[in-house]
Amino acid sequence: MTTVVVEGLSKTFRGGKRALKNVSVSVDRGEMVALIGASGSGKSTLIRHVAGLVQADRNDGCKVMVGDRFVQTGGRLTADARDIRRDIGVIFQQFNLVNRLSVLTNVLTGVLGRIPAIRGTLGLFSRDEKIVAMQALARVGIAETARQRASTLSGGQQQRAAIARAMVQGAQIVLADEPIASLDPASAKRVMEALSEINRNDGITVIVSLHQVEYARRYCPRTIALRDGEVAFDGPSEALTHDFLRELYGDASEELVLPDVPERAPRPQIALQPAVAFAGA
Ligand code: ADP
Repeated sequence: MTTVVVEGLSKTFRGGKRALKNVSVSVDRGEMVALIGASGSGKSTLIRHVAGLVQADRNDGCKVMVGDRFVQTGGRLTADARDIRRDIGVIFQQFNLVNRLSVLTNVLTGVLGRIPAIRGTLGLFSRDEKIVAMQALARVGIAETARQRASTLSGGQQQRAAIARAMVQGAQIVLADEPIASLDPASAKRVMEALSEINRNDGITVIVSLHQVEYARRYCPRTIALRDGEVAFDGPSEALTHDFLRELYGDASEELVLPDVPERAPRPQIALQPAVAFAGA
C-alpha cells in the first residue's frame, strides 16, 4: 500500500530559485528510503512539502498525499495538513528537543503532539504514558538518560530521543532530514540503526535524507537521488554506481562514497580505511 505520493511537485522560492521541478515519487508503507543529492539539490524542500510545512507552487496537477489523505493539492495546503502531521514524525538535523526539559518529558511530548508547556511538568503525565516513553527510550538505547536535561545529551543521543518521541507519537511515517549530518561515524551508525529498528520492527515508513551515501547503501534498500530539483535516480540502493555518484556529487564524491561501491578498477588501499573504521565503530 502506498503511503506517500508526490505528483507534479514544483517549488519556486521567493527570489526565483526553483528548488523542485515537477517531482513525482511514491513510497510504499514499510519502506526505508534514502534521499540523496548534493547540497542544495532539494532534499530538505521535498521532505518539508511531505510534512506539510511548505506550500508548493500553484499547479493543478500537483498533489502530495500521506496515506489516503491530501497534504497539498494544486499547490495549496489542505485543511487536513495539520492533522496529518500528527501521523508523521519529523526529525531535523538538530534542535529537535526542548533543551530545558528532561529527555523523558521531550519523548512524552509525542503523546501530546504539541508543545509540552501545555501540560507543564513530567508529573502531569500518566504512569502508563511514562512507561511507554521509557520503553521507547530503551528501544533506541538511551534509557539511562531519561532524567537528564535534553541539553546534556550528545548530538546522536538527541537524534535517538527524537526517534523515541516519534514512536511514542504513534507515527506511521518518519521523515528525517539529514539526521546524521553532524555526527561522528559511531553516533551516526547508532542513529541509522535506530531508524532501521523502527522500520523493521514497527513497520514505520522511513524517508531519510543523507549526505553520506555509504549509509544509504548500508541501511536503505531504496534510494531516491535528486539533482538540481529533479529525480535523477530511483531504485535499489545497491544499483548506485560509482560513476553515477561521481556525476551526482562532482568533486566531492570521493569522500561521500563507500569503497565497496562497484566500479571497474580496484581502488587504492587507502580508500578502504573509512569502511574499516565504520564497520568497527
Ligand atoms: P538540500 O536539502 O538538498 O541541501 P534544500 O532543499 O535545502 O536542498 O534547498 C534547495 C534549494 O532551494 C537551494 O538552492 C536552497 O538555497 C533553496 N532554498 C531552500 N529554502 C529556501 C528558502 N526558504 N528561500 C529561498 N531559497 C531556498
